[in-house]
Amino acid sequence: MEDWRLQGQEEYLQNAILERKRYRRYSQSWDHDHCEFCWEKFSLEIPGALQVGYATTDNDRWICDACFEDFKSRFNWTVNPGCHDVPERLELTSVQAMQAEETSSRVVLILEADFGEKILSSAITGAVWVVDSEKNRLYVEKARRLDASRSITTFPVREGESLASACDRIIWALDEHHNEQSRTPGYRELEVIGVSLPDVFEPIFRDLNFTRFVATKTGFLATKE
Ligand SMILES: [Zn+2]
Repeated sequence: MEDWRLQGQEEYLQNAILERKRYRRYSQSWDHDHCEFCWEKFSLEIPGALQVGYATTDNDRWICDACFEDFKSRFNWTVNPGCHDVPERLELTSVQAMQAEETSSRVVLILEADFGEKILSSAITGAVWVVDSEKNRLYVEKARRLDASRSITTFPVREGESLASACDRIIWALDEHHNEQSRTPGYRELEVIGVSLPDVFEPIFRDLNFTRFVATKTGFLATKE
């Protein structure tokens, strides 16, 4: 007999990219989520609820540890490293710490499905968020093999979603990972590649304290004061 927890989640969780992290709301309008499989509650406010688990990079889908273990091979999940809010820290040497500080002030958001080998270019510094595609995945894996400490996060573009809307959607999760509330110092500079300034919804960026916007050949550069 099939496990009662399996209810067709393949449709949205097959080959998903997950991160282990503290619970955070996908939307401000609700205070909890459920494990996609066993329906266990995730919440920071509700007593007894789970506070840490696996989630999609946009925090839309949550999976408890037990269900993750039970279904990880069946669903072929990939776990993104580089999520920094789970209490499991590596000691950094001072040189690494200095390099980390230098690059942590900058994040690159790549919205090109065929960006591919350019991920390995020395022009791409700092943490990277890149749209998931077959071609990008190949070079993301390569970049991670070359430098395991590199923070590279992949995220899917939804069916029918434009790259500009994907940018508007993912910027919240990106900001949450890299702003001064999740690390010191928080990032100040965001380079967006693949979407140009007139196509994004600027008020979203202003809400996140970006104040300066400069168009570039490949997209734009946004800076926080
Ligand atoms: Zn579960």
